[in-house]
Amino acid sequence: MTDDGRDRPRAPGTRVVHGGLPAAIDGEPILPGPVFGSLFHLAGDIDATNASSSYHRLGNPTWTRYEEALAELEGGDVVLFSSGMAAVTAVLTTFLKTGDILVAPADGYHGLRGLADGLLARMGIEVRLVPSTDADVLAAVDGAALVWIETPTNPGLGQLDVGRIAEAVHAAGALLAVDSTLATPLRLRPLEHGADFVVVSASKHLTGHSDLVLGYVAVPAAAEGAEGRAAGLVITRLLGGAIAGPMEAWLAHRSLPTLEVRLERQEASAATLVAALRERDDVTDVRYPGFGSVLVFTLADAAAARGFLARCRLVAEATSFGGVHSTAERRGRWPADAVAPGFVRFSVGIEATQDVVLDVLAALDAA
Ligand code: PLP
Repeated sequence: MTDDGRDRPRAPGTRVVHGGLPAAIDGEPILPGPVFGSLFHLAGDIDATNASSSYHRLGNPTWTRYEEALAELEGGDVVLFSSGMAAVTAVLTTFLKTGDILVAPADGYHGLRGLADGLLARMGIEVRLVPSTDADVLAAVDGAALVWIETPTNPGLGQLDVGRIAEAVHAAGALLAVDSTLATPLRLRPLEHGADFVVVSASKHLTGHSDLVLGYVAVPAAAEGAEGRAAGLVITRLLGGAIAGPMEAWLAHRSLPTLEVRLERQEASAATLVAALRERDDVTDVRYPGFGSVLVFTLADAAAARGFLARCRLVAEATSFGGVHSTAERRGRWPADAVAPGFVRFSVGIEATQDVVLDVLAALDAA
């Protein structure tokens, strides 16, 4: 310990840069490259200390470094998966059993509803789909084994009070999972508000370059009384096989240091764009949670939305969000989302603010 202040907790913008890096060794890079190997040299008997360095499905140092960085950001233990949906599926299949009741968003990311109709129905799990408001979730908690919320929701951008819901869920003897993909650990740390699981698709802001899919689950650190949860997820990953490739894990870790500066640019541009859109009478229901890259708005109808998207020069028409390139899509083109035909989900990139705003306003004028 020193008394010069450097032992204090570091700010998130520093943690994203330094998290998960090994100690300095002369001649070694700051972030070592991806470790490729299906198997690793391992002589003699297997025990708890060496099993994870035997075969890639059991462990890989490239994942471990990225998991350590994420664990520091979320304030818990982190288990990395091959996609956000693999992380979602791991929580559901590890912690629910036949006869359990799951409360889940009727208006969140549609992948969970797809699992409810298929896998969870076959597992004999009852799913209560509820609108994403505090009141609707609180009214549905009784009798549930697991309550799943998404905040902000994708695509409606509704926000929920994690702390208030966690209290009610725990009083009812249930567990709370929070899909925090849109917020990222830089804007919301659900474990601090009492969540039992945080699920994040790292395919979006976390990695930010639209070049890979990954996901993770964060749980309270074992030392804080949730022994076994991370271990249960690790067993599901080992036996279910939904592991990250070393190249993806390394690219993700390589992209993490810029998370805060990317978000800051995206948020500044989003705020400017939202203000400009609210001035227009051909754009309605402009919503933005105040952080992150995603904003939504509604145009007159599907034709108006198609016309707008076709006239953007800088903004790519593409699904997903959180990347460095501005993208947008008419969300109603996906049948699983109940949105107005002219509803546009817009993900602001890190281009210069004035260029993004000019492109959007010119495309709207021309449409
Ligand atoms: N959760 C949310 C809120 C999402 O938006 C998505 C993907 O769009 C997922 C989970 C699934 O993540 P992935 O595409 O990485 O499997």
